[in-house]
Formats: sequence, structure tokens, C-alpha cells
Amino acid sequence: MILTAPAMQIHLFPCLNDNYAFLLHDPENRLTAVIDTPEVSAINRALNEKGWELTHILNTHHHWDHAGGNLELKEQTGCIIVGPRDEAGKIPGIDIEVGEGETFQFGNYLARIYDTPGHTSGHIIYYFESEHCAFVGDTLFAMGCGRLFEGTPEQMWHSLQKIMALPDDTKLYCAHEYTQTNGRFALTVDPDNKDLIERMSEVNALRKKGTPTIPTDLALEKKTNPFLRPGDENIRVRLQMQNNTTTEVFARIREMKDNFRS
Ligand code: ZN
Ligand code: FE
Repeated sequence: MILTAPAMQIHLFPCLNDNYAFLLHDPENRLTAVIDTPEVSAINRALNEKGWELTHILNTHHHWDHAGGNLELKEQTGCIIVGPRDEAGKIPGIDIEVGEGETFQFGNYLARIYDTPGHTSGHIIYYFESEHCAFVGDTLFAMGCGRLFEGTPEQMWHSLQKIMALPDDTKLYCAHEYTQTNGRFALTVDPDNKDLIERMSEVNALRKKGTPTIPTDLALEKKTNPFLRPGDENIRVRLQMQNNTTTEVFARIREMKDNFRS
């Protein structure tokens, strides 16, 4: 007889202005993790609502809107803090350091860790293969990617390619609701992309109702996210970069986005 664990429960909720945090729950072992700690009060409200007790914090990177609530939550609950080895010195209260190629066992569910430098130099993502989902922090956004605060375009493009190598049906949980602005920018570099046009009308309808556009999935991102499409012929023609390397095109798109005012 094969015993399969029940699916990991995921609860998404907004924090601060445009952040999301996610509660992950293992019902069999009564474990609950939060992906990043943008806002302690919102996290406590979500825990109360679900009737779950916090046992773990899984950090993606050191920015205050991701690790700022670590110490208060640890003091309150005694939870274990897991975070990126390459910037462990900047993760308040870190107990377990993880990096590329390693795993973290969260009750019944195994997270594979990938280093995704670019937004910060030690950024990591958590991929739960059995649950077909990944928590990608500020590396990839719906139709966008993170700003390059500590890394180079080469590094970020390499990091995004790791995400692109996951199965197409992987649900991607991004840490911000930037989708509408990202889509407006995407249309300036990829205006004839029918999938993108169609997606934007869906996104506009969702945002009008205040509905989150997260999670997204990898198949849809490959079709509509310009940061995953620097090899696309139409985008290259549009940018007059037919003869440039993929990394150069990626760098240009990132630069254009940095200067984009929606
Ligand atoms: Zn960040
Ligand atoms: Fe952030």
C-alpha cells in the first residue's frame, strides 16, 4: 500500500503596500511556515484566521520587506528560521542556512533550494516538486523580474533560466503584486504578442476587483514575460538587437524597465 501525504495547504495574503506572504501548512505534522516576514500583524492575523501555529520562517532574501519581522515572530513563537547561506549575516535570527543543490524537509514536503542571485547577491528560491510550486521571492514577478540591486544582468538571466528549467505547470508564488505595471511595460517591448494582450485584459479585470494575480505559472510566464523572452525574434527586432547576445537583450530590457514610468 502506498501512503501519500495530503497536499500542502497554501494561504496567500497581502502585506504592506504590495507584498504577499504565504503560509504553508502540513496538516499531518501540524507545521506551519511563512515565506518571508513583511508585516508581523498581517502574518498573525492570517495565522489566527487559519488556526495554525507558526513553526518555521523560510526567507528568500534579506530585504526588510522580507526578513523584517523575523525576530519578533521568533520571539513570539520560537519558530525555526531558514534562509540563504550566501547572505546569512543579514538574515535576523537565522538558524538553518541553505543554498544551491540542498534541500529542506518541511514535514511531509521537500523543498529544493536554488541560488538565484541578481536582486540580492544571496537570494534563494524554494521549489516543492511534489506540490508543483515554487516560492520565488523577488527574483521573478508576473510578467517581470526583480530589480538588480546587488547583481549583474548575467547573474539574473542565469537565475531566471534555473526557474525556466522547472516543469511548465509549476505555480510561481511571487512576493509582490506588480503585475499590472509589469504588463504595461511588457506591451511596450512586445506589443504584438497575442498571449500578452489577452493576459493583460484578464489582469486588468482581476485588479479592478482587487483580486491577486498571484500565483502565476511557468507556461504563462514563458509566453508573456519579456524577461524570459530575450531570445524572441519580435522583441529583438523591436529593440534593434537582432545581432546581440541573449544576455545583452536581457540587460537592455531590464534597463528599459528601470526607466519606465507607467
Ligand atoms: Zn527585495
Ligand atoms: Fe520585496
